[in-house]
Amino acid sequence: VYLSTIGRPLDPAEAAVPVLDRGFLFGDAVFETLRTAGGRPVAWAAHLARLRRSAAGIGLELPWSDDELRAFVDLTHGDTGNTDSLVRIVVTRGVSPLMLDPRQALTPTLAVLAIPLAIPDEAGYARGLRARIVDVTRVPASALDPAFKTANYLPNIQALRQALAAGDDEAILINPVGLVAEGATSNVFAVLGGVLFTPPISDGILPGITRATILELAASLAIPAQESSLHPFDVRAADEVFLTSSVRGPIAVTTLDGFPVADGKEGPVTSRLRRACEALLGTL
Ligand code: PLP
Repeated sequence: VYLSTIGRPLDPAEAAVPVLDRGFLFGDAVFETLRTAGGRPVAWAAHLARLRRSAAGIGLELPWSDDELRAFVDLTHGDTGNTDSLVRIVVTRGVSPLMLDPRQALTPTLAVLAIPLAIPDEAGYARGLRARIVDVTRVPASALDPAFKTANYLPNIQALRQALAAGDDEAILINPVGLVAEGATSNVFAVLGGVLFTPPISDGILPGITRATILELAASLAIPAQESSLHPFDVRAADEVFLTSSVRGPIAVTTLDGFPVADGKEGPVTSRLRRACEALLGTL
């Protein structure tokens, strides 16, 4: 763990955020979650760009250069001694007097956290996940535009709580007009009739970095792919469903709303794309 204001790696138990920090009080913060492979951050340029876009989206100026941010990540990962890490970069608007007015928040708080990367083994990927489409909406084009990775994850947490309470592993959120949006911390893909579908960004989702990678890989593997809106009915009828995120890459949804997706196993398109993604990690 690295807190910029302290300037040296800290044990998580030692690292503290002031009680007047706006990230703590109001969720006035943005973040990125990424993984390393071979000790290097995966898709660093894309994560850096999205962090800057998210910060700009809430009018938060980042006082650090690209090189400084990269150095913080390398330093934190290096200090852990992990082979590979899950790395979280959190930037809050910093400390201000108790009220909402952000004008007196002068110094953003930066924390870089690294924990050992924990992803499913081969059997876990083959088994896939149980997901549930829940009645929690991601709200596009608002102060909480899902395109910005802000600290406001309460809807996603509520969605995940609903799915977990039903005995499932993952939640899929809908958008305000009832279309499939995205997972609580992932994007959604479905294969129907040999074509790969994923909702467009305009349906109110985070522009996932793994989502973009999957679309590029599909093109290079000649898998027909299309960004188009998905109704929950489409996803329930799909031959394959999978979720994507930087930490886990693509992972099959083999049970949806309590019913098996097709034969309840990781499908061939998912498996091909997962292997292609894994091969990309080796090229860093
Ligand atoms: N959607 C949401 C809401 C997320 O929080 C995340 C990642 O945490 C994703 C999608 C996947 O994005 P990425 O592939 O960039 O990790």
